[in-house]
Amino acid sequence: MNRPKRLLVANVAWAHDTAERNPEFFRELARGQNPHVLWIGCSDSRVPAETITHCEPGDLFVHRNIANLFNPDDDNSASVLEYAVRVLKVAHVIVCGHYGCGGVRASLLPPDPSLPHVNRRIAPLCSLARTHHDELDARASERERVDRLAELNVLEQVRQLRANPIVRDAEQAPLVHGWIFALEDGRLKVLTSGYEADDAMTCETAAHSAA
Ligand SMILES: [Zn+2]
Repeated sequence: MNRPKRLLVANVAWAHDTAERNPEFFRELARGQNPHVLWIGCSDSRVPAETITHCEPGDLFVHRNIANLFNPDDDNSASVLEYAVRVLKVAHVIVCGHYGCGGVRASLLPPDPSLPHVNRRIAPLCSLARTHHDELDARASERERVDRLAELNVLEQVRQLRANPIVRDAEQAPLVHGWIFALEDGRLKVLTSGYEADDAMTCETAAHSAA
């Protein structure tokens, strides 16, 4: 059986099992969505938002791209944020990066001429790496540099989201959180919580804000 066919067969089994477990499930799903969380994560296949948080369809409004970047000038990112905040009125925005991120690693390497779109997309990440080059260069290995830049990247996206007028001027501004996922043990680590935004921003991004 080819791979797409396998996915379709698995879908039939999933729909059947889900309906068996909760006969009302799809009726409720069809009524509309009311997610409380906007998730901005990496496209990496190993970090599926719903799976790693045990969420169900309807729980998360999701935007994923290479290296979980929020770019206010990109209609894709901005329209997702706009809809999530103004229409769905989500209470939380979670930026979730991950260690071992290929997009983050690419930003520390010379640009690959066969990937012009990726290169353009990760340009802000390259400049973030330049801003923090002293701290990154002090790390012992490439892996440590990539992982630290992945953390700094999450914090930078959080900073941008908190400063974005869609969030800042919302009637009920959502809390913006920064998380990072470890592939080795499947655990999420909180880098900055929307509940302690001021404290976290002071310690974690002082270097960037001062730059
Ligand atoms: Zn990634």
